[in-house]
Amino acid sequence: SVPTPTHEVIIIGSGPAGLTAAIYSARADLKPLIIEGEPSSTSDQPGGQLMLTTDVENFPGFPEGVMGPDLMANMRSQALRFGAEIITEKVSKVNFSNHPFELWTNNSTDEPTYTANSVIVSTGARSIMLGLEAENRLIGHGLSTCATCDGFFFRDQEIAVVGGGDSALEEAIFLSRFASKVTIIHRRDELRASKIMQQRALNNPKISFLWNSTVEEIIGEEKVAGVTLCNTLNGERSSLDISGLFIAIGHRPNTDLFIGQLNMDENGYLLTGADQSTTNIEGVFACGDVQDHKYRQAITAAGSGCMAALDAERWLENFHDK
Ligand code: FAD
Repeated sequence: SVPTPTHEVIIIGSGPAGLTAAIYSARADLKPLIIEGEPSSTSDQPGGQLMLTTDVENFPGFPEGVMGPDLMANMRSQALRFGAEIITEKVSKVNFSNHPFELWTNNSTDEPTYTANSVIVSTGARSIMLGLEAENRLIGHGLSTCATCDGFFFRDQEIAVVGGGDSALEEAIFLSRFASKVTIIHRRDELRASKIMQQRALNNPKISFLWNSTVEEIIGEEKVAGVTLCNTLNGERSSLDISGLFIAIGHRPNTDLFIGQLNMDENGYLLTGADQSTTNIEGVFACGDVQDHKYRQAITAAGSGCMAALDAERWLENFHDK
């Protein structure tokens, strides 16, 4: 096959982080190549996590709110307008120990599909889901994975949170500001969460617990209307009427690709330098949810995408000066 020319910047992933990095590096005349991912029935897909939701009301600049997919289509066309090139493929292998860096979208060849002087990793993260068929249909329609994002939509409603760790309790406590009742559904009879979070949740008059229970089914065609529960001790089934369900059983960053090459924390999140987007490999930068387990918002992902583009631009300047 004919080797393609080495790109100045390749951006892996096209969520808010990747597309913001693309807008900045395209406007810096670096002609970025964005490998945007491939449509899939599960979480990662071109446009990233906001493709899974409906109304986004907290992205600045949209006083009336904006639909997640529309926001991502706007970011995409903004990147294209300045000359970014977008390829609808998934990176399947990288080699960051050679320079130029090597990337494959097709594992069956020895030759890398693309080479680049710098790489921006913005492959995001995914919420761990229950694995129920109804989840694909109802996400963004009463089913959510983000209380900060969607809590506001559930004022005076009865809702439930699935999970038993710190983040599940944090979500439940936040949601109790809006909802009339929050039921925490937990498969065991004790929580993994820290004692202080447990106390806060147990003392909250709007929060109640359903122990030893798993969600077997989410009820509702177009919107969440309830759940069918199974008692893990005796197998008994019951139902709970709710208009909102929050899944809070954890997140997984999309970083399998980088194992052994980029430094990660114990949960697989990429480690970046303090207040910057640098990784342990010079010339490889990371931004967005793939390196952020704390804030996980579109605006913070976009902000860190901007940082990665500026860091890459400066790094490339020094690299070409040598
Ligand atoms: P992601 O959006 O996760 O994008 C990752 C990208 O990487 C995707 O394009 C994917 O296809 C690509 N990718 C992954 N692996 C590969 C690979 N091997 N090769 C190529 N590409 C790859 N935030 C808000 O601020 N407001 C909200 O209202 C809001 N609502 C939300 C509702 C839901 C249901 C969910 C799930 C999230 C919501 N969020 C919201 C959070 C927000 O979506 C994320 O914080 C944000 O999308 C993170 O951006 P990112 O660019 O880092 O990653």
